[in-house]
Amino acid sequence: MVAISDRLEQQLRTLVAIVAQEPCCLCNGDSDVVGVFMAHKNHARAYEAPKDKNRMVFYAICGACLHLPDSAKRIEKELRRTIHRGEYQVVREAK
Ligand SMILES: [Zn+2]
Repeated sequence: MVAISDRLEQQLRTLVAIVAQEPCCLCNGDSDVVGVFMAHKNHARAYEAPKDKNRMVFYAICGACLHLPDSAKRIEKELRRTIHRGEYQVVREAK
């Protein structure tokens, strides 16, 4: 179990609010859920993360796509494609 600070919780809420406006990453329809994909630093190079850095990606998805039997595989493939094409925004911590 992990507890987070109020500040981190606020940052996560902001991220989720931004991503919740996006369409489903698989079908481009209205999204219902925000998911988080995290590649450990040992595998994050495949997601174009800097060396020795983890890669965390927030994505939006609809209920129908979420419940597809191979949704995890499809999401991972789409995230790789999106990252490879640079079709994502980077949200940095506010100073
Ligand atoms: Zn969908």
